[in-house]
Amino acid sequence: MSSTSNYSTPPCAACKFLRRKCLPSCVFAPYFPPEEPIKFTTVHKVFGASNVSKLLNEIQPHQREDAVNSLAYEAEARLKDPVYGCVGAISVLQRQVLRLQKELDATNADLMRYANNNNNNNNFQYGRRMVNSGYYNYSSAWNNGISGGHNNIGTDNCDGGR
Ligand SMILES: [Zn+2]
Repeated sequence: MSSTSNYSTPPCAACKFLRRKCLPSCVFAPYFPPEEPIKFTTVHKVFGASNVSKLLNEIQPHQREDAVNSLAYEAEARLKDPVYGCVGAISVLQRQVLRLQKELDATNADLMRYANNNNNNNNFQYGRRMVNSGYYNYSSAWNNGISGGHNNIGTDNCDGGR
């Protein structure tokens, strides 16, 4: 019976590697499937199976998958780069962020200068337009004054007469 059930559900990658029976309560089984043996050996080589087991038991079940994935990422980076591990990748990215931040600041400064120049040009044009429209208003007022000249002159004369 047990041999049949073992055959239908193979042990997880951790239990297979550690040569132990994979129980239904195995903390590794959901995160280290038998078809991904490298994932466990990498994590085990760097962190040790008992530390990983302890860590998984200390955190909430819904966070365990993320924890295992981050451990696998860190372990892989540590094996590739024994000196810096994933810190090497982090410092490269941090330098990139600093460089991009400087580029962004410079671009924003250019944009501000461009916007200011554009505003000055617009103000200048607006000013000219204002002068022009002022001129037109003045001339139209003048024309109105001419057209209504007789009435105005008449009342002015009447007032002056009193
Ligand atoms: Zn297992």
